[in-house]
Amino acid sequence: MEENQKVIIFSAPSGSGKSTIISRLLKRVPNLEFSISATSRKPREGEQNGKDYYFLSHDEFKQKVAEGQFVEWVEVYQGTCYGTLKSEIERIWQKGSTVIFDVDVLGGVSLKKIFGNKALSIFIQPPSMEVLEQRLRGRNTETEESLGKRIERAKMEMQYSNQLDVVVENDDLDTAINETETIVRNFLGKQ
Ligand code: ADP
Ligand code: 5GP
Repeated sequence: MEENQKVIIFSAPSGSGKSTIISRLLKRVPNLEFSISATSRKPREGEQNGKDYYFLSHDEFKQKVAEGQFVEWVEVYQGTCYGTLKSEIERIWQKGSTVIFDVDVLGGVSLKKIFGNKALSIFIQPPSMEVLEQRLRGRNTETEESLGKRIERAKMEMQYSNQLDVVVENDDLDTAINETETIVRNFLGKQ
C-alpha cells in the first residue's frame, strides 16, 4: 500500500445520518470519493445503479461472493446483503483519491482491521433511539416491516460505537458536518 492510499469509514445504524453527512463532506473536501457498494436490496425512488449502489439480484450477489470479489460483505437485514467490492477501492486509489465507505458496524470493524492506520473509522451517533426512529420515518423510504427490522438492528449497532476511532454526535446537522470535516482534514493532513 502506498503512503497516500487512505480510507475513511462511516459506520452507524441506518437513519443516523451517514449519507447526509458524506454527501456534504464530498463537496467540501477535495480528493474524496465514495465507494459504491453492491446490494441485493431493491433501489429506492431516485436511487441510481452505479451511483448509489450496484443493485444486484440475490444470485448475482452470491456469485460475486463465490468469486472472491468482496473485501467484506454482510447480510445486514435478513435476506438483504451489502458488500464492498475490491474493484471500487482500486478504482478510487488509482485516481489518487481517498476512499469513503458507508457501511454497517460489522463492515466498519472489518474494514478497520484490514486497513489499520491507513483507515479512519467514524461512528455517527444519533441523539437517541427515539430521534433515530423519527428520522427513519421522516425519510419515507421504508415500509413498516423494513422500518421495524432497521430499528431492531440499530439497538445492536449502537453498542459498537466504542469500536470505531471517533464518535460524532449528529444532533444539529451543521455542527456534525463541521466536526466531521475537521476530523477528516486532520487525518488526511498527517502521514
Ligand atoms: P443513513 O445514511 O445513516 O441511513 P440518512 O443520511 O439517510 O441516514 O439520514 C436519515 C434521515 O435523517 C434523512 O431524512 C436525513 O435528511 C435526516 N437527517 C440526517 N441528519 C439529521 C439531523 N442532524 N437533523 C435532522 N434530520 C437529519
Ligand atoms: P441502506 O439500505 O439504508 O442503504 O443501507 C443499510 C445499511 O447497510 C447501512 O447501515 C449501510 O451503511 C450498510 N451498507 C451499505 N453498503 C455496505 C457495504 O458495502 N458493506 C456493509 N457491511 N454494509 C453496507
